[in-house]
Amino acid sequence: MARKNDAQHELLSNTYLQLIYDIERRRQSIYEMIDSTVRSLRETFTRRFETMGGCMTCRGRGWVVTWDTLDFMDGSAACFGDCPNEACTKETRERSGLDLSSGQSKYDRIQGTVFFDFEKARSIMVAPFLACVRKLDDELVTVREMSIVKKGSKVIVFKGRKVPIGTIGTVVWIGDSTWGARVGVKVGEDVKWLSASNVAKLRE
Ligand SMILES: [Zn+2]
Repeated sequence: MARKNDAQHELLSNTYLQLIYDIERRRQSIYEMIDSTVRSLRETFTRRFETMGGCMTCRGRGWVVTWDTLDFMDGSAACFGDCPNEACTKETRERSGLDLSSGQSKYDRIQGTVFFDFEKARSIMVAPFLACVRKLDDELVTVREMSIVKKGSKVIVFKGRKVPIGTIGTVVWIGDSTWGARVGVKVGEDVKWLSASNVAKLRE
């Protein structure tokens, strides 16, 4: 498989299609970095909750569910009360922050629990990555525009069985058929007819 990808990479190396693939790959790797950044930030907050002796009774919320019925699955009938743990005070909760490990529950949503510190830290840390993504998105729009095959475009055949892979020619006709867009590509004195999705526009 790797060999096939290498061969295709070689074939497309001078096309706009390859530029699109490259940008998409960079975009994907930025999202992976965002994921790992958020994951380690979450771990930091979890460690803080643990080392600061966060209250496991209310998980740093200051309230507990005292009663609920399964008749309303969304928790809208639930009753809440103050955390019964005497060691749990406003001050200890400020030190430990919230336990994020199990995420936001339906009760958190009802009580309006906001992971304020975490969300603030996350938006600060993720912002530069998102700026990169936006830049790549702009680039992608431009390159996609440039990749559009038109009459007169120089293209390379990279898929299909009718015309040898690697054939280079100039588009002299574009049209629709029952099977999608087709192109006529002039190769030497011949015109080859094939699916538009089998050709990639070469960079100028
Ligand atoms: Zn508590």
